[in-house]
Order: sequence, then structure tokens, then C-alpha cells
Amino acid sequence: MSEERFMDKIIEVCLRRGFVNPTAEIYGGAGGFYDYGPLGTLMRQKIIDLWRQSFVLDEDNIFEVAGSVLLPEAVFKASGHLDSFEDPLVQCEQCNSMFKADTIIKDATSQIAEGLSLDELDKIISKNNISCPNCKGTLSKTREFNLMFKTEIGPTGGINGYLRPETAQNIFINFKRLVNFMRNKLPFGIAQMGSSFRNEISPRNFLIRGREFEQMEIEMFYDHDKENEHPRFHEVADIEINVVTREMQEKGWDEPLKVTTEAAVEEKLIPNQYLAYYLAMETEMLQAMGVPEDSFWFRHMQDNEAPHYSAGNFDLEADLSIGHMEIIGNALRTDYDLQKHAKATNSNFEIAMPDGKKVVPHVCEPSLGVGRIFYTVLEKCFREDNRGWTWFQFPPVVAPLEVAVFPLMKKDGLAELAQEIHQELKDAGYLSFYDESGKIGKRYARADEIGIPYCVTVDYDSLKEYSVTIRDRDTMKQIKLPLEDLEIALGELMDGEADFDEFKEFEQIEK
Ligand code: AMP
Repeated sequence: MSEERFMDKIIEVCLRRGFVNPTAEIYGGAGGFYDYGPLGTLMRQKIIDLWRQSFVLDEDNIFEVAGSVLLPEAVFKASGHLDSFEDPLVQCEQCNSMFKADTIIKDATSQIAEGLSLDELDKIISKNNISCPNCKGTLSKTREFNLMFKTEIGPTGGINGYLRPETAQNIFINFKRLVNFMRNKLPFGIAQMGSSFRNEISPRNFLIRGREFEQMEIEMFYDHDKENEHPRFHEVADIEINVVTREMQEKGWDEPLKVTTEAAVEEKLIPNQYLAYYLAMETEMLQAMGVPEDSFWFRHMQDNEAPHYSAGNFDLEADLSIGHMEIIGNALRTDYDLQKHAKATNSNFEIAMPDGKKVVPHVCEPSLGVGRIFYTVLEKCFREDNRGWTWFQFPPVVAPLEVAVFPLMKKDGLAELAQEIHQELKDAGYLSFYDESGKIGKRYARADEIGIPYCVTVDYDSLKEYSVTIRDRDTMKQIKLPLEDLEIALGELMDGEADFDEFKEFEQIEK
């Protein structure tokens, strides 16, 4: 099986079962744009909810905002995006196809060329005789290409606007109002979830590199002199994270370094507690979503790879079938953006501290891509074993549907009782799905294929003695239990409080 085909298998299920499909598919697609279908939308929402709960709602000093996606040019002039948010582009002189220069080099030679100058890229392309992957034509010299989508605001034009390439800028430009809302007290964080747009030169790999994608970001503002006084750091101090240091990258590495966040800060592997806090939070979140801990790590980016505003970036990279991919970006943005916007608008962004000191806060930014996390979960939960069908082993927290209710037959009142149970489960807050068509085995297979953790079957015993059968997706084991215990049993199973085997007092059904 070639690695590329593994992604194709997942895409095939996504298309067929309503997870994701290309935008404007019937017109041939639009390159880098995707629509979430019915199941994809449910799962995407769960990913967002998990982030919102642990990164925002569980914190007392973090609030979420929702800003406009279109911003006037002045914002991006000040932030540096107009001048520096660029990728190196090469074009085939024969068929006019365009490519990102560092990607074409990586594909041809495996060399990482991100962040190299145009001259250096040209030299590598010429030294390795790299030609157009489509037609073998000669490639042009490399030039910079700005990734922002430009438009004009208003019927008469005149004011240029850009779709935001990251959600962050809305927060920086509203800083004055936000800091008032937060009663001028550091540290505090402002979160935002929403769409960002980048006119990627060659979007590819499904949701991994799109032109429109969603980010869940926090701008965490703190006093730089107190960068190792994060108020909740002690809560994550013992959590182990996987780190790939710059030194390891220079020497070559096989395995990331496993280290507690506390040791990572003490040994200066991670620059400060604010950044380390988020690396711990992300580690816990991905694991809860079914991404194994040994399949991702935080790589300290080299200076020339980091964005123009960065004083240290740690990318969360996952080991995917298409190679190592950045799934989450973590940046120390210093006071760069606030200083730039203050200067451009003649504003004062200083905050007076209790001791009288005035500071322009520094910023730590965890930037989580919804689409990349969504795809990583799909890939890491995809199972092909000897069942005769593929299935997703989604943990209930990300499963698009949580329980399926099936009447064994449509007749004799079984369908009515099953529908009643389905409605009760929905009323109790479960994402329940009702299906009465086809053989029961086929229905289990269809439920497995979209990762429904539990199926509940209503049969003739249900009518006689008010019992139902629960089937566990992962083990395919079945247990019969009284209908009145169903809701509680499901709750315990989904929260991980009970194991399927723990329901011993109930009758085990041999398959
Ligand atoms: P960056 O600002 O480039 O570090 O991006 C932050 C995060 O946004 C990345 O880690 C991705 O999860 C996501 N992201 C960036 N660019 C894209 C893209 N073209 N398609 C999908 N997700 C993206």
C-alpha cells in the first residue's frame, strides 16, 4: 500500500459518508476549498467545543471574541503581512503551472528549504536539475508571492481590503477595548475561532493545506518580566511532552525527547512557562481525541523558518501517512504586533502594573488549525482489520454520532419502541441516530464505518422484559441490560467511568 493511498482511503469514506467534500464539486472544485458535510459538521463542532471548554471556558482570565474576516489594508500594512506574508513561487515556462519553491525542492530532494532566500532556492533548483513535475519543463526564477486575498471595499472601491490570513489581528487592533474589559490586569487572554484565508500557491493534501481554513487561536498577554509566573503552570508541571530541540535537528533525531513541562522550562528547552503551558494543554487535548502520544511532538523551529513576528515557534508536528505535518503553531509574538499597531495609529498600549511600572505586554499564541486536527483524528482513528469493513475508533468526545438505535425488525411494535428510546436518548443530550433499514449486521457495519461507539438494539425481549442490547464498537461484544439502566450505562461508558466488561451482572451475549 503506498502512503498516499492511505489518505485516499480516508477521503473516500469522507466523501461517501458525509464528512467532507470539495467546495463546488459539481463544477470541478475550487482548489483548496472544502465543505463539511452532515457528519463532518458534527465532528468539527465537537473539536471546537473541546478546545473552547479546556482552553477558554475553564480559565477565569480568557474570553472569546468573534471578529470580522475582512480587514482594511492599513491593518496588514502595520502588521507586516503586506510586505512579508509571502511564499516563494516558481512557474513552469512550458505549461505555466505554479509551485511553492521549497515544496518542489522537498519533493525532489527531501531537503527542507523553508525560509531560504530566493537566490538560495534558485541555486538548489538548478544544482539538482529540478524541472516541472507535470511536464518536465524548465522552471522560472523564484519570486515572492503574497498569500493574502485582496478585494475592494464599497461600490466605488478606493479602499483595499484583505481577507485575514490569521485570526489574531482582530484581537491586536481591538486591544484598547479588550484591555479595558479585562480591567487593565495582566495576564489575560483573548481567544478567537474562525476562518482564515491564504491564497496558497499549491493547496494539497485535502484539509491539510487549504485556501480557506479555520483556526482556534488565543493571544495570551503577559508581562515579559514575569514570563515564568504563569498562574496555573503548577497544574501542568508534571505533564510529559515530546520535544525536538534545535540541537537534535542539527544532529539528526529518531525519537523526540520526552520531558515534563517543568523540566523543559528549567532546562530552557522551552523558552517560558506560558508557551510550555499550552504545549501541555495541546498534548492532553490531542490524546483525548484519540491521537497516540508517540505520534506527535513539538519542534523548535529554526530561526529562518519562523514567521516575521516570532521570537520562538514550537510547531506541533504529527507523524501522518503523508509525512511529518505541522498541525498546531505555537508562537511567542513578543510585543511586535501591539507596538506596530500603536505606532501606526498613534495609540498607547501600555498597561500600568500595580507597582507603577508600565508595560506593553508580550504575547504567547497557540494557533490550532481545525481542519488539520480533524484530518489527524480521522487518520489516527482509522482501522482496517478483519471485520470486512473499515471503521473509525473515535473516542466518544469526537465521535460525530454517539449511539445508534436499531429495531431488530420494523414490525410488531419494535420500531415504535426503538424510536421512543432514540427520542429519549436525544432528550438526554446524546447524539443518537435511528436506523431501521437493512439486516442488523449491515447496520452495525454502517455504524462502525462512521465511528459510532455504541449501538442499541431493540428485539422481542425488549417488548417482553424491557431489556435492550448494547453493542460495543471496539470489541463488537454485546450486553443485554434493563432498559431503565440504558441511559446511565451509556453515560458511564462514554465518560470512561465504566468498562464494557464491568457490566458483568448483565447477560453477556455470545456472538
Ligand atoms: P501558522 O500561522 O502558519 O503557524 O498557522 C497556524 C495553524 O493554522 C497551523 O498550525 C495549521 O493548523 C493552520 N493552517 C495554516 N495554514 C493552513 C492551511 N493552508 N490549511 C489548513 N490549515 C492551515
